[in-house]
Amino acid sequence: MKSKGIVYLVGAGPGDAGLLTVRGAELLARADVVVYDALVNKELLRRTNPGTELIYAGKRSSDHVIPQDKLNELLVAKAKEGKVVVRLKGGDPYVFGRGGEEAEQLFAAKVAFEVVPGISSSIAALTYAGIPITHRDHGSSFTVITGHEDPDKDEPNIDWAEVAKAPGTKVVLMGVTRTKEIADTLMKHGMAPKTPVAMVRWGTTGRQESIEGTLDTIAAVVEKTGFKPPALTVIGDVVKLRGKLNWFEKRPLFGQRIVVTRTRDQASKLSQELLERGAEVLEIPTIKLVPPTDAQDLADAMLELNSYDWIIFTSPNGVKTFFQYFFKAFDDLRDIGGVRIAAVGPATALKLKELHLRVDLMPDEYVAAQIVKAFEKFESLDNLRILILRAEVANEELPKELEALGAIVDDIACYKTVPETDDITGAVERFNEAGADWITFTSASTVDNFHARFDLPQLLKKYPDLKLASIGPETSKALVWLGLKPSVEAKEHTIDGLVRAVENAVK
Ligand code: SAH
Repeated sequence: MKSKGIVYLVGAGPGDAGLLTVRGAELLARADVVVYDALVNKELLRRTNPGTELIYAGKRSSDHVIPQDKLNELLVAKAKEGKVVVRLKGGDPYVFGRGGEEAEQLFAAKVAFEVVPGISSSIAALTYAGIPITHRDHGSSFTVITGHEDPDKDEPNIDWAEVAKAPGTKVVLMGVTRTKEIADTLMKHGMAPKTPVAMVRWGTTGRQESIEGTLDTIAAVVEKTGFKPPALTVIGDVVKLRGKLNWFEKRPLFGQRIVVTRTRDQASKLSQELLERGAEVLEIPTIKLVPPTDAQDLADAMLELNSYDWIIFTSPNGVKTFFQYFFKAFDDLRDIGGVRIAAVGPATALKLKELHLRVDLMPDEYVAAQIVKAFEKFESLDNLRILILRAEVANEELPKELEALGAIVDDIACYKTVPETDDITGAVERFNEAGADWITFTSASTVDNFHARFDLPQLLKKYPDLKLASIGPETSKALVWLGLKPSVEAKEHTIDGLVRAVENAVK
């Protein structure tokens, strides 16, 4: 039976992915379609199922991606197809989010809808900047106003004289580009020029920035610091409490942008620990391994492993994928036979060691000439049968040079790497535009994979201040192998140890 379509207007919270409601999380997991705004933390989209259609609705001041009327039509159309649609909106859907208008349209189109409130930035961004929105001694009411920086909106019909007269805390959303006008107007209507003001940008996220001043100075502070939207402004005595209550910005890694290079499913503990300490975490997927185009050669080689004198592995992924096939064909490791094993690079050797296989030869450098030299030193290659197990479309030099010494070489692909292009969370986009303070590496293969996607030495040329954090000596070796040096190496080779190492370096 086809389910009945419905639209849920869901508040995504102010930015921190932890500030989504339980109900919101439940609905994201159930959605067929999610239509989300620019200020929504894209991390939340991971709560959806793989098949869920994700539609970006844009809307950051002037970069409207889908115009509001088209958006309403889209919600109606998807619901009428019988889909469960989550309309995910920043903060609370009804606090300056046009949620009311969207709900009215759904009502008019006779589409079922429900609304899930969210934590509004108008309260939470203050909290994370050390400002309680009310306080018995400093403001016992609050007013939330729109500063209308959205050029599409009509002229505001806000009675600023009334706003100036109102007691308590004032919070202005969408007003960054009009800070001076707003402050001047409030003073003109009688507010004291020395009234404390704070502005909070990207509140509740690792990117949070805040500035402080008074009504008569704040515009100059905005100018001087180049403060930009998305941000809100808090006006009132509660701002004074920041000195005591600014817990979030005092977290040890606050202000540090840190790349986590592990694969998705492994990343969470490290990311969590870093987030807890206030860092902005960018989880960056690197490459995806897919089966080789033609697996027949590999299948053939597998049946005559005994006929080879050497197997050469050139990467940890080669080891990993080869043994995945191997254990599908055989259930006993001894079926690999008496063949000798060469590993190019410490990460590859380590991977073999994990399988309790001894590495007979490990050339020091991943350069064909060096590898061949290492073999030559070991024994004559004349008439020896060599199986190279590596990625599809790899460097031709190695088999050629081995053949030149008389070896009979089979160069066989056990996997193909394709670039990971998925960037659901926007982490790669953010990394490309802003760089980072740290890249964390938790194994030699995370180094290799990250390098395959970003070319690490190149990256360090572009961002000379970028620091590399390594979980231990094997991982550091993989960096040294690329001609790089980690800024810190964890003393204890665990995730906790790594986090501690970064924390100590930042202190
Ligand atoms: N419905 C949203 C507000 C939408 S209007 C809510 O309840 O939070 C968009 C404005 O909200 C932005 O221009 C900015 O002024 C403010 N805003 C939203 N998220 C913010 C954040 N994380 N930090 C600071 N201001 C934010």
